[in-house]
Order: sequence, then C-alpha cells, then structure tokens
Amino acid sequence: GFDAGFFVRWMVAAAGLVEQEAGRLTELDSAIGDADHGTNMQRGFAAVVKTLESEPPATPGAVLVIAGRQLISTVGGASGPLYGTLLRRAGKSLGEASEVTVAELQAGLRAGVESVRELGGAAPGDKTMVDALLPGVAALGTSLDAAAGAAEEGALATVPMRAQKGRASYLGERSIGHQDPGATSSALLFAALAEVAR
Ligand code: ADP
Ligand code: MG
Ligand code: MG
Repeated sequence: GFDAGFFVRWMVAAAGLVEQEAGRLTELDSAIGDADHGTNMQRGFAAVVKTLESEPPATPGAVLVIAGRQLISTVGGASGPLYGTLLRRAGKSLGEASEVTVAELQAGLRAGVESVRELGGAAPGDKTMVDALLPGVAALGTSLDAAAGAAEEGALATVPMRAQKGRASYLGERSIGHQDPGATSSALLFAALAEVAR
C-alpha cells in the first residue's frame, strides 16, 4: 500500500511538473482563456508543498485533504476550487487509513471526480479537466503508468472539442483546435503519480 510519505512525494512531484510545464499551461490558456493557468497552478502547488513539508500529515487522506484546502485558498481561478474539491473529496474517502491500495486510491479519486462534476457541471466531452481525469481514474485499475497514459490521451482528445464550460466556452466554435489547459494539468497529476511509484 501507499503511505502518507508516498502521497507527500506525489504532491511534491506534481508541483515539480507544474513548475516545469507552467509556461505551456499558460500558453494553452492564452489561446482559449485568460493566460493564467500556469501561474494559478504554480502558486497553488507551491503552497501545497510548503504546507505539507512544514507539517507532514500522518495519513494519505490527510495529505489530500490538506492539499485540496491549500488549492482552494490560494488559486484564484476556476481550477482552484475544482482541483481543491477533487483532492479533498478523495482524501475524505480514504478516511483514517495509514496505507491505501491502488483500488482504494482509485475509488477515492472517482468520488473526487464526481464532486468536480457536481461543482462545475461538466460532462465528458465538454473540453475540461474532466476529460483527462475520467480516463485517468478508470485506467488506475490497470496500472499507474496506464493511468498516466490514459490521462495524457484524454488531454490530447480535448483538441477537437468545443468548450461547454468555463472561460473557453465564451469562444464557442473558436475553442475548437486547442488543447484544454485544465485537462493538460490533470494529466500532469497522473504523470507525477506514476513517476513517484517508479
Ligand atoms: P480560470 O478559467 O478561472 O482562469 P484556470 O485558467 O486556472 O481558471 O483554469 C481553467 C481550466 O479549468 C479549464 O481549462 C478547464 O479545464 C477547467 N474548468 C473551468 N471550468 C470548469 C468546469 N465548470 N468544470 C470542470 N473544469 C472546468
Ligand atoms: Mg485561466
Ligand atoms: Mg483566471
């Protein structure tokens, strides 16, 4: 099983990938949004890492709940409350266990994605983070590497979609032909998960 230390390393790896890809995330958001997704995610995950390292939580569930809370309070954009909800809901579903299996993590993240969908109202195909999160979570049943690949494919599949939610939806047809920034950052979360398990 995965312990709290593993979950902290996951969040640290996610922050590293976000940092590395911040320019690209902002560039994608400049095409169909307001050019701040990279800086939003960077600010949020830097705060997550700072909090987790200053006071390491005892359980996997607590790591995700605290990370989610930090994202909600530090990210101004739409993505903050949505990612915050994803991680908080997943963390709550893991309860007080000191170690969790991949199947438990999958169930937790599935509950988290459901909460994201309730909060944001996005369906699959609406060109949002949901389009990377759903296939990523589904493929966790196979392996963490499969999940990373599926989330990446999900993000790529947003290119021909027409945005139905968030700022990109204001562009209507003009949102077609661009990769969704939030789906792209969601794929980074799965890439970080696979990376720390390697
Ligand atoms: P903002 O749009 O407020 O500037 P960000 O740029 O940080 O916020 O995040 C934009 C991303 O958030 C989008 O690319 C999309 O993936 C995601 N997003 C926006 N609205 C929704 C929603 N209603 N449901 C799910 N995801 C959404
Ligand atoms: Mg934006
Ligand atoms: Mg914004």
